[in-house]
Amino acid sequence: MNDLINDLYQEIILDHGREPRNFGECDPHNKSADGHNPLCGDNLKLTFFLNDQNIIEDIKFTGEGCAISLASASLMTEKLKGKKIEVAEEIFKDFTNLVSGSDEDLKVLNEEDSLYALKGVGGFPMRVKCATMAWHAFNQALKD
Ligand code: ZN
Repeated sequence: MNDLINDLYQEIILDHGREPRNFGECDPHNKSADGHNPLCGDNLKLTFFLNDQNIIEDIKFTGEGCAISLASASLMTEKLKGKKIEVAEEIFKDFTNLVSGSDEDLKVLNEEDSLYALKGVGGFPMRVKCATMAWHAFNQALKD
């Protein structure tokens, strides 16, 4: 990966960490879950509204934590808003593969995707937990 792309990815994380998108609570919402990452002190509450066509009509989060956890939650809500649940589940799988260092068999994400900015955490197990916390909360909310 060249330096220009690295800088660009860094910029995306800093930007979303400083000014998280979709910050707040969905009103109304019919799905919610909490995420905790005690190792780093990250906490979040995710809420979303799944409509009768199984589309994520709105999705928001609140919480506090490091730049990586906030950026990941922010990028996630941007990516999942308006998606059908089946697509969202594919994105979830792709993202967890991406940050665990395997981007070979991704189905829906590609390098032009802003979520690729978090690929770099793959080399740091502590940071992987920060990056995946919001996503695991999303997955948990779907199961409840
Ligand atoms: Zn963290």
